[in-house]
Amino acid sequence: MYLSSRVKESQASITLKVNEKINRMIQDGKYVYNMTNGQLPFKPSSEFKDELARQLNFLKSYQYSSISGFKELRKKFLDYKQKKREIEGKISGHSCIISNGSKHSLYNALGTIIDPGDEVILLAPYWVSYPEMIKFWGGVPHVVSSHGFDAYTPYVDEIEKAISSKTKAIIINSPNNPAGIHYTEKWMQSFADLVVKHENLLVISDEVYSDIAYFDPAPKYFYQYRPEVLERTLIVDGISKSLAATGLRIGYCIADKKIIKGMSKIQSQTTSGPNSLIQRALIEYNFDNLEKFCDPIKMQLRESTRLVSEAFRAVGLDHCFYQTTSAFYYLLDFSRMPMFEKFDNREKEDHSTEIVNDILEKTGVALVPGSSFGQKNSARMSLTLEKAPFAEGITKLADYLARK
Ligand code: PMP
Repeated sequence: MYLSSRVKESQASITLKVNEKINRMIQDGKYVYNMTNGQLPFKPSSEFKDELARQLNFLKSYQYSSISGFKELRKKFLDYKQKKREIEGKISGHSCIISNGSKHSLYNALGTIIDPGDEVILLAPYWVSYPEMIKFWGGVPHVVSSHGFDAYTPYVDEIEKAISSKTKAIIINSPNNPAGIHYTEKWMQSFADLVVKHENLLVISDEVYSDIAYFDPAPKYFYQYRPEVLERTLIVDGISKSLAATGLRIGYCIADKKIIKGMSKIQSQTTSGPNSLIQRALIEYNFDNLEKFCDPIKMQLRESTRLVSEAFRAVGLDHCFYQTTSAFYYLLDFSRMPMFEKFDNREKEDHSTEIVNDILEKTGVALVPGSSFGQKNSARMSLTLEKAPFAEGITKLADYLARK
């Protein structure tokens, strides 16, 4: 009775529930192929670790940073992003804020732009936290769906139909968690045209997986085709995925100065500036090393998707396979699999959790139910497990999926 309705109405992270079950199974001596992971099983590069160690010696590493992050690092992120996206000189009115992870940047960005009742368009499958964050600020998520047939890429026409006078913003996440794909250049071009047409629409571009693209062509972004939309674009990124440093909690947002100022206000009254030690190490770290650092990660991901394709083919599920290209997930569409017959005859529309539980009990493979990503009858599979257990797990899983 002490809890606010805001908290009562919000959903706890689904992965926590799945992890409880996994831990119970492990305690009971069962082997689990844990494919729920949202992080890479790698440590950051030695150059970065050495820099962290060096920064331990300075008093400033332990003291408050500026509210929006250290100036040098804000400039470094701003320059880096402009260079990477080839948009130098096109974002003169922009600034950068550093937060405690890109999740924190997203939350503050939404708080800066949403008034109660404003709608924010999400493209399903979407990252679990978007709808909850939008609702926390009094906004209303409006979901546009997609299908496994189209490698989970929504039609731009459908997005246009979802835009109304209530729409404040749209979030796009490419490379996508949980689909493991990035939208094509053609898609980005027509999305850019759509944004140009709707001149009050803000776009949040969540780019946290942009360095983890393991098949060419590399991700491109709508604003590269129509730079005039940059003034309405909020770019969010961080070090969690590209530096394999989820626990260090550094993310950032690049947007128009007025928006960044708003985010800074929220940050000033809530969390203050982000971790000084990590920021100082990042100021010294050479971002050009990122590509080299990500190479072995990409190699492992390419091998994992090859194993998925092989395992599907071996049991006659070729038609259910789609080629992932980026981030480190694969979204299984149960509704296209023979096993779905067992579940399809009930009254409920979505059986994701039920199926994921059944898979865990029967095969030992742990997945995350897709319902939390806005995709019915599906599950997210992480591709980060080491080769031998992954190959074993995916074979068991494919066998389960192919059986009526
Ligand atoms: N966006 C997406 C799509 C994510 O998958 C994640 C983390 N899983 C985040 C943002 C947040 O990342 P972080 O806060 O660790 O930077």
